[in-house]
Amino acid sequence: MTAASASTPVNLFGLDRTELRARFAEAGEKPFRADQIMQWIYRRGQGDFDGMTNISKDLRGKLAERFEIRTPELLAEQVSQDGTRKWVLRLDGGNAIETVYIPEEGRATLCISSQVGCAMDCSFCSTAQQGLNRNMTTAEIIAQVWFAARTLGGDFQNERVISNIVFMGMGEPLANYGAVLPAIRILLDDFGFGMSKRRVTVSTSGLVPFMDRLRGDVDTALAVSLHAPNDALRNELVPINRKYNIEELMAACRRYVEGKDRKTHIVYEYVMLDGVNDSPALARDLAKLLGNMPAKVNLIPFNPFPGSDYTRSKPEAIRAFGEVLRAKRIITTTRKTRGDDIDAACGQLVGRVQSKQKNRLRDIPVRLG
Ligand code: SAH
Repeated sequence: MTAASASTPVNLFGLDRTELRARFAEAGEKPFRADQIMQWIYRRGQGDFDGMTNISKDLRGKLAERFEIRTPELLAEQVSQDGTRKWVLRLDGGNAIETVYIPEEGRATLCISSQVGCAMDCSFCSTAQQGLNRNMTTAEIIAQVWFAARTLGGDFQNERVISNIVFMGMGEPLANYGAVLPAIRILLDDFGFGMSKRRVTVSTSGLVPFMDRLRGDVDTALAVSLHAPNDALRNELVPINRKYNIEELMAACRRYVEGKDRKTHIVYEYVMLDGVNDSPALARDLAKLLGNMPAKVNLIPFNPFPGSDYTRSKPEAIRAFGEVLRAKRIITTTRKTRGDDIDAACGQLVGRVQSKQKNRLRDIPVRLG
């Protein structure tokens, strides 16, 4: 770790353990030092090299020359009446993304962003209206979690202030696979956040090839944004369906759970749009589609945003839809709307995306990965 290589410091939030060990080895340092550094950062919440007391002063100096531990700047914090918190974080280059903390009885979920904007163009989602500005880096993705844990206080090791992490903020995580995969590894690593694999959920609109890659690369929970049981309707709501239709998507879902332990299931998200996808007939089609797959359904009452064309399904319609599924023995829950008074609910996250240029599926040839 010579001064010559110290021009732009590398943010440690961007390096998983394999990568950090490799960098240490390259620099002639013992790889186990990498493990120690990660424990300091993720298990003890240490953001300052000088506080890493079991590391020699000499090595701390070298680390500080070459690396940094840096979170995005907090632009705004809003706290909902229900305790949900939303943070607007400024990334390098001036864009901002949003991270949402949702405390509940017995658990607390952090909803993180993976892209600045989104290219998937789902017709009912406000992030989609912005198009995609850019992918977030692994460091930016992980910094959200570290920032939240630090801000909420509590002990990084024992008393967990964050019990679950969901990639359900801004962006399509599987369209930014190269940065999301190391982020998942840091979340699951015992020397990282040490989360259990069932408590980290990747949510996707259905990027089939990356669902397969994820299956092969890491063990984590998967949620699929289905929203419609037939192609005609899904093409309209989730345009990526024109590239990977329901049949291909369900085949990928089957492959995802195949060979995993019996408790593994996929959660299918289904936004409830009044008069669009909420009829009992569609519920029956959905039950048929999920048939004997290991599936749970999560009904999400639509959250409106300025300029949206849809309205939320009536509570009776949501209840009736759920009853049809439950009658077919499909475990169905309705997502409680949280943080909507601060625009922190599902589909309401917009951050501050600067580019006026639209990069959306309808405007550009599909270009994934
Ligand atoms: N791109 C990923 C993750 C982001 S959104 C995905 O599509 O899964 C997380 C969930 O919120 C998705 O199921 C998404 O379809 C849903 N959602 C988006 N906009 C919404 C809105 N306005 N109201 C309710 N849910 C919405």
